[in-house]
Amino acid sequence: MPDIKLESVSKYYKNDRRRFAAVDEVNLTIKQGEFVFVTGSSGAGKSTLLQLMCGEIVPSEGKVYFGKKRVDQRRKEEYIRASFGKVPQIPQLMRKRTIEQNLEVVARTKRGVRGSAVQKRVKKALSVVGLPYVAKKYPVDLSGGECRLVELARALINSPPVLILDELTGNLDEDTIWDIMHLLTELNQQGTTIIMATHAKQFVNLMRKRVITLVDGRIFGDVERGRYGDIV
Ligand code: ADP
Repeated sequence: MPDIKLESVSKYYKNDRRRFAAVDEVNLTIKQGEFVFVTGSSGAGKSTLLQLMCGEIVPSEGKVYFGKKRVDQRRKEEYIRASFGKVPQIPQLMRKRTIEQNLEVVARTKRGVRGSAVQKRVKKALSVVGLPYVAKKYPVDLSGGECRLVELARALINSPPVLILDELTGNLDEDTIWDIMHLLTELNQQGTTIIMATHAKQFVNLMRKRVITLVDGRIFGDVERGRYGDIV
């Protein structure tokens, strides 16, 4: 199965007059089937790193691979697009569509999935995240936490090999975070790679997975079975 590999990857942005590196010379390999937490304070570069990994943005320097294929191309192959399910940091549900319609759009991007198969997938994805009753509602009818769960359902609806989750736990209560951690552990045991940026320190410490810590766009710590804030 394909690994994700970043080779000397940097992403520069400008603020006021200065150019700075949001991600700075990062070398990193994540093997298929790993469970990785990405931690660091706000502005450390977590979101940028996640966006680079799945090709949502292209690096200023360096290369990103998924297996042998390049991810860092402006025009991505369908294979690459289909390989990553993502929950973005900023919620992105379409406000004028029902939850069901929000999910259908993604289910239909899978080749060969049409008609009742689309409905079936939507139903299954919503029940997996514990929200089978929200299908006909609109995002505005749901709490912030429920919207995040719907976004998780949308990310996993086509069973991608890699799930990238950016601050998914921010708006959620402890019980819900536990449910999500169980679900993610299960998906991970079935072979899905999980890459999760989070500030949920207590959960990171209990899960004991690989923990990558970013400081100023650089990898400051990368520890197997790590704790929040561990450095090598
Ligand atoms: P984190 O997810 O750890 O909070 P980010 O990756 O969002 O960090 O941001 C890292 C730095 O890059 C921050 O200083 C942020 O303001 C800046 N940044 C991120 N995205 C952009 C962008 N699209 N344009 C300009 N600056 C950005």
